[in-house]
Amino acid sequence: MTCDFLSLALPGVQKLSPYVPGKPVEELAREFGLRAEDIVKLASNENPLGPSPLALEALKSAFAELTRYPDGNGFLLKQALAERLGVSTSMITLGNGSNDILELITRAFVSPQHEVVFSEHAFAVYPIVTQAVGARPVVVPARDWGHDLDAMAAAITPATRLVFIANPNNPTGTWIERPALERFLAKVPENVIVVLDEAYTEYVETGDVPNGLDYLTQYPNLLVSRTFSKAYGLAALRVGYGICQPAIADAMNRVRQPFNVNSLAQAAALATLEDEAYLAESRRINREGMAQLEAGFTSLGLSWIFSRGNFVAVDLGREAAPVFQGLLRQGVIVRPVANYGMPNHLRVSIGLPEENQRFLEVLGQVLADAAGAGE
Ligand SMILES: *Cc1c(COP(=O)(O)O)cnc(C)c1O
Repeated sequence: MTCDFLSLALPGVQKLSPYVPGKPVEELAREFGLRAEDIVKLASNENPLGPSPLALEALKSAFAELTRYPDGNGFLLKQALAERLGVSTSMITLGNGSNDILELITRAFVSPQHEVVFSEHAFAVYPIVTQAVGARPVVVPARDWGHDLDAMAAAITPATRLVFIANPNNPTGTWIERPALERFLAKVPENVIVVLDEAYTEYVETGDVPNGLDYLTQYPNLLVSRTFSKAYGLAALRVGYGICQPAIADAMNRVRQPFNVNSLAQAAALATLEDEAYLAESRRINREGMAQLEAGFTSLGLSWIFSRGNFVAVDLGREAAPVFQGLLRQGVIVRPVANYGMPNHLRVSIGLPEENQRFLEVLGQVLADAAGAGE
């Protein structure tokens, strides 16, 4: 007798597709016989600058304590964040990446009787955490690639317990402006938790994207999640955080793993938080790289979705999968987004100027070859 174990999994889990990460550089090097140093990876919205030098220094000191368990309450990091954000430490929950925060809020509050509302083309982790607890995902059609908050508010029923909003959103880069967010928050019943995922907030330099923290007092059902993986350049270490009313943080705290954020992650995050120059440089590289890619797309006759993140979704006007493969063969890794319902787009993370240049050149060649082949 062989047991079909997958058939024993929760029905929601059986219907899930696993998260598809960006292709690792080493894997591409092995598959195509390329040298790792010749490969450009613009696939996971990582910070192209490398980590802050202050983080590297802090890690060296932290190595000596590797035999010890980390501070399970993340005292120093929470204190630094609280001071910086103007909230109390009791409002902060640390996570093993902000993905952990998204999972903790769901596990603490959502049961199989509940519905979780999120947008079409939104971050892939929302359906995963929803279906992992057996709840029903309610996917609201996007408008102009972005969240349709009026439709999302209308999708809330007595069964809804949680709403996920990404601002800016990944993979589209679209953002929600202040009036739309305010109108939405005012409509949501107080017993429905709104998760405002601000993974890219540090990249936003325009005044039109709201800061979720401004609404925490007025809306006690709000959770803002943020991360050190993007502008702070620590994706490998996995550290994120949520900010919400202490009662919600208390519930999340009860279900988390006791040492969910390791000591290296805490030390590096604390040091990077102090590195104002690093953040400023990250923003500059991003701003200039975005302009470089937009100019390149214009030259190639391509359109794209305007983005406030550190990535941009370019519309190839044709099926993107073969172009993705063509780029890979030349050592350029970007992200196909067909699994997000965007088969004609590729998502490209902003890299260093020379990486952006290389991507644009190879993209031009691949598109010209495809056109020449009469595809
Ligand atoms: C990258 C990203 C995250 C952050 O993930 P971490 O677990 O913090 O690395 C969260 N939300 C969105 C929308 C993202 O794109």
